[in-house]
Amino acid sequence: MVSLDKENFKWKRVIIRVDYNVPFENNKILDETRIAKSKPTIQKIINDGGSCILMSHMGRPKGKDKEFSFNKILFQIEKILDLKVVLVENFLEKKSIKKIKSIKPGDVILLENLRFYPEETKGDENFAKKLASLADCYVNDAFGTSHRRHASTTEIAKHFPKKKFSGYLLKKEVESIKKVLNDGKRPVLAIVGGAKISTKITVINSILDKVDDIIIGGGMAYTFIKALGGQIGNSIFEKEYLDEASLILFNAKSKGVKIHLPTDVICSLEFRNDSKKKNFDADKIPDQWQGLDIGPNTSKLFNKIIIQSKTILWNGPVGVFEMENFSHGTKALGKSIVKSTKNGAFSLVGGGDSVAAAKKFNFSSKLSYVSTGGGAMLESLEGKKLPGIEALSD
Ligand code: AMP
Repeated sequence: MVSLDKENFKWKRVIIRVDYNVPFENNKILDETRIAKSKPTIQKIINDGGSCILMSHMGRPKGKDKEFSFNKILFQIEKILDLKVVLVENFLEKKSIKKIKSIKPGDVILLENLRFYPEETKGDENFAKKLASLADCYVNDAFGTSHRRHASTTEIAKHFPKKKFSGYLLKKEVESIKKVLNDGKRPVLAIVGGAKISTKITVINSILDKVDDIIIGGGMAYTFIKALGGQIGNSIFEKEYLDEASLILFNAKSKGVKIHLPTDVICSLEFRNDSKKKNFDADKIPDQWQGLDIGPNTSKLFNKIIIQSKTILWNGPVGVFEMENFSHGTKALGKSIVKSTKNGAFSLVGGGDSVAAAKKFNFSSKLSYVSTGGGAMLESLEGKKLPGIEALSD
C-alpha cells in the first residue's frame, strides 16, 4: 500500500474511489463525516496541480433511480468540500468521456452513482477498464467499501501498476486498527456490545490473542450469562450459541484474558421505552422481564476497567440506546471512554451502532478515532485481509 505522499500529481488526472454512501433524508445529508474526511486527499492532489475524478456508490439503487442520484446532494458536497464539483451523469457515453478527459488541474468531477450500473457490484472487468481509462492514477480512499470486490475497488486497481495509492482516510483507518490490535499500549481493552452474539463471535475469537480485557454488554451478554447458569428471564439470547459462549469464556481464561459481564441490569416488561422498568442482578432476572441496559453497579465496574486501560476498542452499544430510558448505560460507557482518552488512552470506535451512539451522544470528537467503515471494520477486526486494500499492492 503506497501512500499519496510518495507522489506528485502535477498534471495528473486522478480517479479516486471515495465513500459518499451517506444517509440522507429529503435531500439533506444526515451525516457528512465520510465526505468531510475525504477532503485532505482531494486537497493534496489539487495542491500538487492535479485534477480529481471522484467516484462512489450511494444506497442500493436498482438501475438508474433518480432517488439515488448525487444530484440530490451535490450542493452539500460542494459546501462540505468547499470546492466546485461538477457531476457527470452517463459517464460511459462518448460525450461524457470527452468532458472528463478535458478536466483541468484543480478541477473536481464527481461521477454519478456507480451502482446505477450493475457491473459495479459484479466486479465487471470491462466496466473497471472503462473507468480506469479516464485517469492516469488511482487512489482508494473508501475504507467503507474495501471489504468488497467491486469494479471500482479491486478490479480497477489492476490497471494502475505503480500508479495506485491509498488515500489519507484509508491509511488512517488501517493505522488505527493496527494501533489497537498490533501495537496497542497495554492494558488493551475491547468492549463488545450489540444485539446478538452471532454477529460478533468471529471478532471476539480473533481478538482473544490481542487484548487483556473484554467487556461484554448489550443483548449478547445474556447468552454468556445463561451459559454460566444465570437466570435471564425474557432477555434476548441465542440458544445455538450457548456452547460457543462457554468456549469463549474457557479460552479467555486459559489465555489470561479477563471477560467482564454486566452484574446488574435495567429490565423492562416490554421492548418499549415507556414500559415499566426495574433493576435486577444480571443472573437473577425474573420471568417476563428483559434486560435492556446495564445497571448502575455495572457502569461503575466498567468505568473502573476503562479508566485503567491504555488502548480501547469499542464495538456495539451496551443497551438499547435508541430508547431514552435504556440509553444511560451506553452514555456512561462513552463518558468513561472519553475520560480515559483524555488521560492518554488511544480509543477506536468502530462498527455500526457504536459509531451511531458516539455521534448521538456527541462523543465522536472526543475519541481518538471513529471509523467510517461498518462491515470493513468488522472484517478487519476478524483478522481478514480486505480485498480493496490488498489490490493496492503490485
Ligand atoms: P449490533 O448491530 O449487533 O451492534 O446491535 C446494535 C443493536 O443492539 C442496537 O440497535 C441496540 O438497540 C441493540 N441492543 C443493545 N442491547 C440490547 C438488549 N439488551 N436487548 C436487545 N437489543 C439490544
